[in-house]
Amino acid sequence: MRVGIVGAGLAGLAAARDLRAAGHQSFIFEKSSQVGGRVETVRAGGYAFDSGATSVAPRGLAIETVLLRELPQEDLVEVVKPIYVHRSLRVGQGDPERNLTARYVYRGGLDRLPILLAKGLDVRLGVAVEAIDGSNGAYRLSGETFDAVILTPPLPQSSTLLWTQGETRAFANAPYRSCLAVMLGFARELPPQHYHALVDAEQGHPMGWLSIETEKCPDRAPAGHTAFVMQFNGAYSKAHFDNGEPPLIDLALEYLDRLYGPGWDSPEVSAVRRWKYSQPEGLASFEAVNRGHSRLLVASDGLTGGRTEQAYEAGVRAARLLIAGG
Ligand SMILES: Cc1cc2nc3c(=O)[nH]c(=O)nc-3n(C[C@H](O)[C@H](O)[C@H](O)COP(=O)(O)OP(=O)(O)OC[C@H]3O[C@@H](n4cnc5c(N)ncnc54)[C@H](O)[C@@H]3O)c2cc1C
Repeated sequence: MRVGIVGAGLAGLAAARDLRAAGHQSFIFEKSSQVGGRVETVRAGGYAFDSGATSVAPRGLAIETVLLRELPQEDLVEVVKPIYVHRSLRVGQGDPERNLTARYVYRGGLDRLPILLAKGLDVRLGVAVEAIDGSNGAYRLSGETFDAVILTPPLPQSSTLLWTQGETRAFANAPYRSCLAVMLGFARELPPQHYHALVDAEQGHPMGWLSIETEKCPDRAPAGHTAFVMQFNGAYSKAHFDNGEPPLIDLALEYLDRLYGPGWDSPEVSAVRRWKYSQPEGLASFEAVNRGHSRLLVASDGLTGGRTEQAYEAGVRAARLLIAGG
């Protein structure tokens, strides 16, 4: 079977790996210039910021074996420090149960995961699929013919692609939230903290999440430097999505000042990453969306959950459906 996969995020890479293991051929079309999608590392001035997903928590799903056994382990690091909470920037201990979950990153950046997953796969970078032609068993994508197709972009984007083929599916309850992320690198050391990240459990404060990248993992900044990624919550990100960079960065600096005292106003590196579709707010059912014997499948985190391990699972499930169908 020859399968065309749209998207080289974790879902697309998982599907391609499992299809290859079952002896099928797959080709991944990825519109950007790199693999990984929402698993992305931004490097600047000696800093490495995970600007999308912060870490991977395998939770016993299919990615666990791949991460902990199949892929090279040299740069894999377990995140030791827990996640704490904040209420209006007042820091408190996190949920002890949540902190029992094992979380992993790679030393140089989490983007090492998709890079390792993509090894030996046929990935066409810089190719945006605009339309799907054909019907069950014979599809054309970007000028090539396939027996089956797997769509992995966030559901609103997969939905647009399905439209080009004349299909609609049961996605109505799967909107995605936006996320503004600010990356900041400082030529000063933050005194050691008990946590690597802060979450606003109630999501009432604009700062929904703060990752101290240099507490999360070694080698994310030169010695004596500190790297942060601050994510604004869904409501704030939606309302301010098109704001310029300076007001967002100024606000992030103000929050750091309130958390860690004065002197956090002159970052060496500062940048904003805008995620229009960051994580799904509700889920559509994988079975309802991929009903019957269709060979045009959707394998998006909007069906399995907005986390890396769940996105990977979506790809695995789509590949299994095709393999079982022969
Ligand atoms: C800010 C943020 C923080 C997060 N934090 C965490 C976290 O801490 N832990 C965690 O587990 N998860 C987290 N997530 C969620 C996690 O990153 C995603 O659930 C997961 O990476 C989704 O993978 P995917 O393969 O389903 O989709 P994507 O990674 O979005 O991959 C889809 C790919 O399709 C490509 N594409 C889209 N349209 C086309 C087209 N027409 N033609 C060709 N290619 C196309 C895109 O460029 C993209 O590469 C976070 C996400 C964000 C944005």
